[in-house]
Amino acid sequence: MSEDIFGRSEKLLKGVERLGKFGSRFNYYPYKEAGRMIDRMTGLASEIPSFDSPTTNEEVLQTELKRRLIGEASYLEQVLSGRRYDFDTVVSLHGIPFEDIAVLRPWLESHKDETLEGIERLFQTSDIESFELGLPVDIPSVRRQAEEFAAVHIQKYHKRIGRLLEELTEVGGFLRDIDAVPTTEARSYFHPLTKTLAIGIAAICYITEDESLHIRERDLITLYGHEGMGHALNDVVTVSNGLPYFLTHSTSLTKTTKESVAQFYEKQLFKDLRASPETQKALGIQHLFEEIYKEATDIDNLNKYSLRLYQYAITVLANKELGDPKDPVTTKKKIDLIREVTLDPTYPVNIVDHTRDKFDSEGNLSPQIVSELIYCAQPVQRALQEFRNSGSHYEGEGRSRIDRTLLTGFWTPLGFEQNALIEARKDK
Ligand SMILES: [Zn+2]
Repeated sequence: MSEDIFGRSEKLLKGVERLGKFGSRFNYYPYKEAGRMIDRMTGLASEIPSFDSPTTNEEVLQTELKRRLIGEASYLEQVLSGRRYDFDTVVSLHGIPFEDIAVLRPWLESHKDETLEGIERLFQTSDIESFELGLPVDIPSVRRQAEEFAAVHIQKYHKRIGRLLEELTEVGGFLRDIDAVPTTEARSYFHPLTKTLAIGIAAICYITEDESLHIRERDLITLYGHEGMGHALNDVVTVSNGLPYFLTHSTSLTKTTKESVAQFYEKQLFKDLRASPETQKALGIQHLFEEIYKEATDIDNLNKYSLRLYQYAITVLANKELGDPKDPVTTKKKIDLIREVTLDPTYPVNIVDHTRDKFDSEGNLSPQIVSELIYCAQPVQRALQEFRNSGSHYEGEGRSRIDRTLLTGFWTPLGFEQNALIEARKDK
């Protein structure tokens, strides 16, 4: 039965994709057809049994497919309805677990003091003498020079890290399917169609006052971990696996998990490099590495705090129970709440003022801002906990199994965790 269900869902989901493409090209939807598609998705979902705690791969797949169909249907329905997007709608459309939102404030409270101390430490230890200038990549001669310079470094990293990962884990070999190049775009990205990992030149190169070009090794490692080991591997491992269609296609509903996976590998790459002096040497960063690592850890703690503070601020800004966002009394309440956990005294007023015009006429905070909360979801951390509970360690064969589980398929956060639980139990 499930072959048939997977086949029918593939057809349906491809139809929904076509709708999305049509919508972005013509700014209109074929409203009748879209309505029929919503009905077909909910209809198919109702034929699929759902399991609260699935215990086999088959049950995990069926439960996830049902969840996806219902999710895609309500997403499309919301897009077409003309209704406003309130906070709960945006959070549930992305499947962001409420438990991950609820822990933001207590986490900030318990980490504030140590993070403030970390800033003082960073000032004592970091070298801010040599002034780094941004690259004017709009100037053709600078751009050509920077492109060549960045390409050499990116390729070196791609090759050496690829070799290292092949030793560490089975999925490492998949990095060979990927091209790594520099881009003048500000944001680094992975392009699934061409299998190209593009790293932003401006993010990894800088120029000093003597006009010589340099690489920010720490940023290159971070980006390679996130975009390469995370997004790119996630994509190539997924398409190589003969999974049902719905798991090979990423949408708003799976973005939350995808980012959690990329964030995990971003940090893992630093750990892997630290444990391999040979690779450090090949990259020419052996003499710098401990410093890079220590700085990365301090900066990582600081970034983590800033990100969670921003996420908490979003929940405060969006909280309608605090009153009308246009009312100065509400504004003051919001500033006071954020002030209790801020590091930078100017932050509370700034964020409240900068988002002043980001509310709709019913007082809902803009859905683009609320959807930034996808970065607070922790499905990977919970999945790793399942493996630890089963006695699997992140090394050798255990690591290969865990990497394969984390990188195979595009899942909703809940489906991802249920799948990891099944895979982890196989290790017992
Ligand atoms: Zn990402």
